[in-house]
Amino acid sequence: MGHFDYIIAGGGCSGRSLAVRMLPYLRAFNKRALLVDKELKKGNDKTWCFWEKHPDTFEPIVYRKWDRLSFSSSFIDQELDIQPYQYKMIRSEDFYCYTDDQLDKDDHIQCINGNVEELYTKKELAHVRIDGALYTADYIFSSIPQAFKKRPDRYQYLLQHFQGWVIETEGQTFNPDCATLMDFNTPQQVGTSFVYVLPLGSNRALVEYTVFSEKELPAEYYSAALEQYITEQLHCKKYSIKAQEYGVIPMSDHPIRKQRGRIIYLGTAGGFTKGSTGYTFSFIQRHTAAIVEKLIRQGDPRIPPVTAQRFNTYDGILLHLLSRGRLSGEKIFSKMFEENSPVQVLKFLDNDTSILEELQLFSTLQKKEFALAFLRRTFKLMGIN
Ligand SMILES: Cc1cc2nc3c(=O)[nH]c(=O)nc-3n(C[C@H](O)[C@H](O)[C@H](O)COP(=O)(O)OP(=O)(O)OC[C@H]3O[C@@H](n4cnc5c(N)ncnc54)[C@H](O)[C@@H]3O)c2cc1C
Repeated sequence: MGHFDYIIAGGGCSGRSLAVRMLPYLRAFNKRALLVDKELKKGNDKTWCFWEKHPDTFEPIVYRKWDRLSFSSSFIDQELDIQPYQYKMIRSEDFYCYTDDQLDKDDHIQCINGNVEELYTKKELAHVRIDGALYTADYIFSSIPQAFKKRPDRYQYLLQHFQGWVIETEGQTFNPDCATLMDFNTPQQVGTSFVYVLPLGSNRALVEYTVFSEKELPAEYYSAALEQYITEQLHCKKYSIKAQEYGVIPMSDHPIRKQRGRIIYLGTAGGFTKGSTGYTFSFIQRHTAAIVEKLIRQGDPRIPPVTAQRFNTYDGILLHLLSRGRLSGEKIFSKMFEENSPVQVLKFLDNDTSILEELQLFSTLQKKEFALAFLRRTFKLMGIN
């Protein structure tokens, strides 16, 4: 049985973010950590987008960044100046390569391939079984999905599912200085749906069709929607597909345990996927940075919540509206961007606003529908349907 100071179970976005951030601490305090993942992470399986004001740990691998975004729907068409924020894109391929590089050359962390079969706390130690072998640690950080029973009588469960194509066009189709955050000029019958466009050059972009609904769609539906958008909205008849991405992100207000004994959950497994938008990357960075800061200060990785509980309530209300179809996502986001400064909207979606700022923003939204959704959700949580 091997013992480490820390074990990181799952070496995807959050596991590796924590590992890289921890390196200076491990060196300074002469601690040892183990990182385990069942897969060899290499290819470009994900493209992460997020916004931030200041460069952070992964700035060296930011692939593209934009100071301006656009938002379009059947109600509004706006270009958004988001400074002091920048909207950034990191390709997972670069992230895996960069983190491998940092981790492989450091003796304080060992990276292995293996299937995590069991995690538990016993006698003040965290235990993990990897391919039949037992390891212990003072703490385990896990991004391996936690099993939980769904409670549709209480909580909302939607999926954000999407397909993206990196396309190359013959003409100069894109403005490389402005990314499309949301364009709702897509069929809305299957659920809230929009396209985002991340220009990589004047004739190259990642165009991604995204749907919020209860179920995924047949594969051909996403391709048809992308084709339609590229020809009708981007007015582009000749293009070639250079790469593809497909993904599903859970959107829910189901409470998720962030800690169990000496096991601390990270990433989506720890509830760091924002229920109403699916954005996770920057919440992972905030969480892992806070863990390392606490370790440095007190040698203890347990931290209070990184964002206020009220944001889960807001996400729950929005999910309630979206899943009941009482107010379309197109209407909600259009109103939000039409009536508020883009910087304020991004700050709000980042769970970073003050209560006063939130009240100001809510006063611009569809008050009656939101108030009703708040009441209905509260009754549902109390078991009164
Ligand atoms: C295609 C796609 C695009 C996305 N784009 C964005 C975006 O633009 N912006 C954003 O904010 N969020 C985005 N997300 C959401 C979120 O940022 C990602 O899902 C992110 O990877 C979550 O990080 P994580 O560490 O929680 O999970 P992961 O990165 O999936 O890491 C979990 C790791 O655990 C490993 N694992 C699982 N089970 C075991 C086991 N039993 N034993 C050992 N290892 C195991 C897996 O192999 C994996 O490497 C996207 C998600 C997807 C799927």
